[in-house]
Amino acid sequence: MDLGIRGKRALVCASSKGLGRGCAEALAEAGVDLVMNARGAEALEAAAAEIRSRYGVEVTAVAADITSDEGRAKVLEAAGAVDILVNNAGGPPPGMWTDWDREDFIKALDANMLTPIALIKALVPGMMERGWGRVVNITSQSVKAPIPALGLSNSARAGLTGYVAGTSRQVAGKGVTINNMLPGIHATDRADALDKGVAAREGITLEEARARREASLPVGRYGTSEEFGATCAFLCSQHAGFIVGQNILLDGGGVNSTL
Ligand code: NAP
Repeated sequence: MDLGIRGKRALVCASSKGLGRGCAEALAEAGVDLVMNARGAEALEAAAAEIRSRYGVEVTAVAADITSDEGRAKVLEAAGAVDILVNNAGGPPPGMWTDWDREDFIKALDANMLTPIALIKALVPGMMERGWGRVVNITSQSVKAPIPALGLSNSARAGLTGYVAGTSRQVAGKGVTINNMLPGIHATDRADALDKGVAAREGITLEEARARREASLPVGRYGTSEEFGATCAFLCSQHAGFIVGQNILLDGGGVNSTL
């Protein structure tokens, strides 16, 4: 399927690895020029070089912490006007509900709620003026069904979800859609880190922790960044202009609910 977005320009945050990388690859495959971002310059430059040579699109790499004011300013300056924004950043650490104090919550809100909101505010007005735009926020299945150990994520992402629900309906009339993608477990470094935590706590191997989790999913496996990226590219395509303010769950059937 031709996604109809060849020649568009996208900012994909936190995209040297994992789900953000999957989104960057799929958009590049559709002919979209990219601004990629991550904190670590080496992995970012390597990812940018691979994507440039594989898909022949323009790729600008900006090494910066997207959750800081300075980092966002640097990324926005390099990005200029973009047609597509994919919001992403690392997720908050796991713990117990009794563990977190005000500073922990502020950090999680900054990274997973206020950073995407700041980028939406910076870039969506230009998209509205030009009459076309796509915003996809990578959130989590924790928005639909809370993950006990990820209380910081449950809280911050729920806040972003409320903001998107209201804002998406105010910008859709100018050709701009905003939607959220809610990953369940995907095979990335983040999943490894979470599985390592389980293995250490329960005295089992990493492989055992992963096998146990895979067995708990209806599909019997973790998702891939490629699958995730393909859905992101579709949401950013010409064909997705009627999808507004939705929360798309990609979880292998893990969240047990009717709707
Ligand atoms: P990942 O494999 O750890 O990749 C994270 C990517 O983001 C890397 O490129 C990393 O590069 C970059 N990054 C992290 N923090 C950043 C920051 N502050 N500024 C700029 N770049 C940053 O993570 P992932 O699995 O793709 O997860 C992406 C998001 O989805 C996270 O918020 C995660 O919590 C959420 N999620 C993931 C899963 C899953 O199963 N994988 C499930 C639910 C939700 P640098 O480290 O070099 O900055």
